[in-house]
Amino acid sequence: MSSDEVRAIGGEQVPYFRTPEFSAVMLENEKLILKFAKAPSGSKAVFMTNSSTGSMEAVVMNCFTSTDKVLVIDGGSFGHRFVELCEIHEIPHEIIKLNHGQKLTKERLYEYDGQDFTGLLVNIDETSTGVLYDSEMIGEFCKKNGIFYVCDCVSAFLADPFDMAHCGADVMITGSQKVLACPPGVSIIVLAPRAVERVKNAKVKSMYFNLADALKNMERGQTPFTPAVGILRQINARLKEIKKEGGADAEIARVAAQAADFRNKIKDLPFEFVSESPANGVTPLHPINVDAYRIFEILKDEYGIWICPNGGDMKNTVFRVGHIGNLTHEDNTTLVNAIKDMLKRGLILR
Ligand SMILES: *Cc1c(COP(=O)(O)O)cnc(C)c1O
Repeated sequence: MSSDEVRAIGGEQVPYFRTPEFSAVMLENEKLILKFAKAPSGSKAVFMTNSSTGSMEAVVMNCFTSTDKVLVIDGGSFGHRFVELCEIHEIPHEIIKLNHGQKLTKERLYEYDGQDFTGLLVNIDETSTGVLYDSEMIGEFCKKNGIFYVCDCVSAFLADPFDMAHCGADVMITGSQKVLACPPGVSIIVLAPRAVERVKNAKVKSMYFNLADALKNMERGQTPFTPAVGILRQINARLKEIKKEGGADAEIARVAAQAADFRNKIKDLPFEFVSESPANGVTPLHPINVDAYRIFEILKDEYGIWICPNGGDMKNTVFRVGHIGNLTHEDNTTLVNAIKDMLKRGLILR
């Protein structure tokens, strides 16, 4: 859910954008994103008009080649997306396959120690199962092995603690429609200095996904092609809201409290938690003996409440409740009351 201010901008005319005014908005966006990501000095941000899968693809295309050997953490649909991208772009890779909900232990990761890996791809919150991976522990492993470290923080950015400089991530990806709580359509790639160098020297066979071109344009607060101007203005308002309310740590604490409140309120309901290592952004739940997708449909059609179904092979077994954006503890109560009503009606089984 978006804030009122962000929604109001959605109703305005979209201005022409090759102007000093729009460049100022973009440069302010960059400054705040770098600050909130705790990016090391010399980092750059580029704003891509695509969903975050486009940015995942751009990063794979611009940062790796057939001479790399990349380790991919595959614990759910988003980890698997990185595997597919490596396949499509013919990047040599190996996979650490985790069961749904399973966390990545140090023991498991260090099975791959000292094996000439050059890159690592991970989704810090694997949003399909709500598993939070330890960005610091993985960062140490990457540092030790001289590995180029890519963090998909699409749903973790501003929901879970993440310190790009401290964990040593080279790349961080996020998107407009997760904690930024804006409409979908814009995705952001933060490049630490080592990634900036790598991207500048890349020979990527793509016009739209050429990150060197995006970096060059961003020096003056512009993009190579027409961006989603309206959404970038909404992101600007939202970033300033977050700043005014105490910055990244305050927003992370707010999301964490929203998640804790919900998890506490559903303790006695007949759902199993999916994640061994829960991220703050979302709670995936497994209802016992009931179709998870039906719960999504009934809440939407009969109660006017939107939760999030799962895709792929978790479609009928897992649904997810989000804790990001303009939500309150009151909203949690409304949802829990609806679920209790469904229990009473026999739509959810004990
Ligand atoms: C939402 C999300 C994405 C991107 O999804 P799009 O539909 O392409 O915006 C990527 N990775 C993670 C971890 C996500 O949560």
